[in-house]
Amino acid sequence: MAEARDEFTIITTFNCNWDCSYCIIDTHERNKKNPISKEMLLEKIYNVTEGATVSLSGGEPGLIDPKTMEKVFEHLVKLNCTIDVFTNGLFIKRYGDKYLQYIDEVLYHCVETLDQEIEFPDMDEEQVTYVIIVTNDNHHMVDDFLDKYPHISFKLACNMKHGQTLNRGDAFKLFMRNKKRISEDSFETLFRYHCDCNLV
Ligand code: SF4
Repeated sequence: MAEARDEFTIITTFNCNWDCSYCIIDTHERNKKNPISKEMLLEKIYNVTEGATVSLSGGEPGLIDPKTMEKVFEHLVKLNCTIDVFTNGLFIKRYGDKYLQYIDEVLYHCVETLDQEIEFPDMDEEQVTYVIIVTNDNHHMVDDFLDKYPHISFKLACNMKHGQTLNRGDAFKLFMRNKKRISEDSFETLFRYHCDCNLV
């Protein structure tokens, strides 16, 4: 039987160019109290095991400086890791041309106010998951946003930072209106927020 691959979800930085009210990482607060230096990031990267599955998260990984990013990818590629990236699009803008070729999956997180265009990575469709975090403040904008991108099956998700931030009644109506054009697992992620990742 094949051995299970180790999994690492690495917070690469607490810097972020956005300031989402629902940020579960509390990235800006943590950046003030305990920022992640490039040495700290590289230490995490050098602890990754051969052939592991590695998710690069943040903050926004696109804000890592180019030299450090090069070391990150050099090492992970050498270890033959499967690499995923969580981004709000900045990573794609800044580093897509150089590093998307090494990435297995992009988890793309749309802006909270749903008023910015999507940054499309140059990858196969099945390698990208487009996520909209739905809250009481933005649920009424979701239909129009979906209309703009009829070719994308968005994943809708709730968030539990301050308890349930999406009224269940509104969530249900939203789901029923759009169930034919959103991802199949949106029901699960809209109503049952959970996080089983192992953040380091
Ligand atoms: S883009 Fe992500 S990391 Fe940045 S503030 Fe929003 S939720 Fe937090």
